[in-house]
Amino acid sequence: MKQIQFEYIDDASLRQELNRIDKWKLNHRVSSMLFHVFADNLEAEKIRHVCSLIEFALPEALYSGCTTSGNVMDGRLNMSHITITCTIFDDPDTKVEVVQMPLTEETEPMVSSQIKQMVEERPWVKAIEMLVTIRGLSMTKFCEDLSEINEDIKLFGGGAFSDDLNEVSSFVFSSGHDCSEHAVVFTLFGGDRLSVYSEWVTGWRPLGRKLKITKADHAVLQELDNKPAYDIYYKYLNIRNDEEFFKHTLEFPFIYEHNGIDILRAPTACNEDGSLVMTADIEEGVEAYMAYGDPWTILEQVNETGLKLSRFEPQSIFLYSCAARRTFWGNEGSNRETSPFQDIAPTSGFYTSGEFMRTGKNLNQHNVTLLVTAMREGPLTGNMHNFRIKDHSLDGQASLVNRLANFVHAATEELESTIAMLELSSITDGLTKLYNRTEIQHRITAANTRYSESPDSVKAPSLIMLDIDDFKKVNDTYGHHEGDVVIRRISDIMREQCAAVSGDISIGRWGGEEFMILVPSADKDTVKNLAESLREAFKKEVFEVSGNHTVSVGVTTALPGEHVDVFCMRADDALYEAKGSGKDRVVIK
Ligand code: GH3
Ligand code: MG
Ligand code: MG
Repeated sequence: MKQIQFEYIDDASLRQELNRIDKWKLNHRVSSMLFHVFADNLEAEKIRHVCSLIEFALPEALYSGCTTSGNVMDGRLNMSHITITCTIFDDPDTKVEVVQMPLTEETEPMVSSQIKQMVEERPWVKAIEMLVTIRGLSMTKFCEDLSEINEDIKLFGGGAFSDDLNEVSSFVFSSGHDCSEHAVVFTLFGGDRLSVYSEWVTGWRPLGRKLKITKADHAVLQELDNKPAYDIYYKYLNIRNDEEFFKHTLEFPFIYEHNGIDILRAPTACNEDGSLVMTADIEEGVEAYMAYGDPWTILEQVNETGLKLSRFEPQSIFLYSCAARRTFWGNEGSNRETSPFQDIAPTSGFYTSGEFMRTGKNLNQHNVTLLVTAMREGPLTGNMHNFRIKDHSLDGQASLVNRLANFVHAATEELESTIAMLELSSITDGLTKLYNRTEIQHRITAANTRYSESPDSVKAPSLIMLDIDDFKKVNDTYGHHEGDVVIRRISDIMREQCAAVSGDISIGRWGGEEFMILVPSADKDTVKNLAESLREAFKKEVFEVSGNHTVSVGVTTALPGEHVDVFCMRADDALYEAKGSGKDRVVIK
């Protein structure tokens, strides 16, 4: 495999490059030839012209391309507007095929089923590159549909973009197809001796405390922890909602887990209501962190990724990097993380509006991420390039930002675990570790309200109230310590017995040696049996010091629309009746 890269300067220079390839072909084996044409502006006429020159000079070659937010050639950001990469496959078994399909919300299901069928009909396919116009389109469904493609097939690629980040149009194009603002170009690669390997690197790390995404709709992030999402940026980072918003928030995108991997989403704009427009769909209900980027940490991760990639011994590397990274680093700085790959193999690619890569079965849309796909024809030779970024900033110690971010993260983790402990102890009874009176009351009220609101669809909650019989005697005869032993043991028995019944049962300590069990949605027989088995289990228990004990039990089930106090009082009445009628029994009211 060979990768030749050049810029489009003018027709004469392009013809010269194409001639050179044509001549090279005479003395070398060529099985397939694929041109990637990347244009960092929207001059369709010029793109068509360049493609026609390629078609004319090398009619057997295939080409695909898109508009970009910057082209990468020889591992570096290239400022000429059109760059061309020619990948020449020499293994006779290698196959390449390019297909372009119109893509809109309506055609999406058709496109995904068509490509799935194509892949099924072509057992040689090992990898698929996807260049796609994504602006204004939600890609979640498309990614899910494409995830159904045979898991062994690699999927990777990028979204078309333009050099103006606020520009919504972009296009893709390919052999036999004109520039389209709503299309996807799939390039299928395969062959017995072709290997494809993909890796990705973000370098951004989680920072600070967990934030719950409480409201989101596709790419609009409305609320975090039930507050307008923008508040977080203002409160923690003092970032104002002005024309610099995107630039400032870029260093602090959100990171969250999706399909088992970390995904980044950056805000691109802030609406008046404080909701944020994100770079792609973001999921409601997930827990996210704000993430931070700093050059030292990013380059460290590029190093790790590069090392893994070099073990694959690539002959050709394709980069799909987020436009946000270019903005983060600046034009010259961006080469610090892309140019080291050129030491492994010829590296070309582009800055995109969404990077796509498959991990396991799932195709994910990434943001703020650098994707690297490497290809090789033939076996490993053992001549691995020993990847190591030669960047002097890595020679010293970790950056101050890195250390401070670690400090914030560690301190936050400590605080979060302390808060979790405090939250638990605020609802727990110290002696028994059951819920305390406040918490069990709160749960009973909630269950009663749920039932009152929809008595037809929600099952009636029940209460089991227990009180140890003649407990004063235990204290008086054997001492307070033995009393505590008995209280703890009955708590364990309640836990054991309730665990055997399905449903979300809550057990609380109502007072001294009085307990309340909330059974939210079991039928009356189940509740009655549970009460009986509790009474029996406790009666059977023989305490070393104080011998046997019994409990009296009151049971009741809520009536539609009744006040929670009335409901609880009936349980109390039932218990009172059990006590009055001889103790050691269950009374149902
Ligand atoms: P009855 O059968 O009518 O319930 O009689 P009883 O003796 O159990 O009467 P009551 O329920 O009024 O007695 C509660 C006693 O439980 C009084 C109190 O000293 C004791 N007690 C309350 N909390 C604790 C505790 O945490 N530990 C111990 N050891 N005793 C407690
Ligand atoms: Mg008692
Ligand atoms: Mg009592």
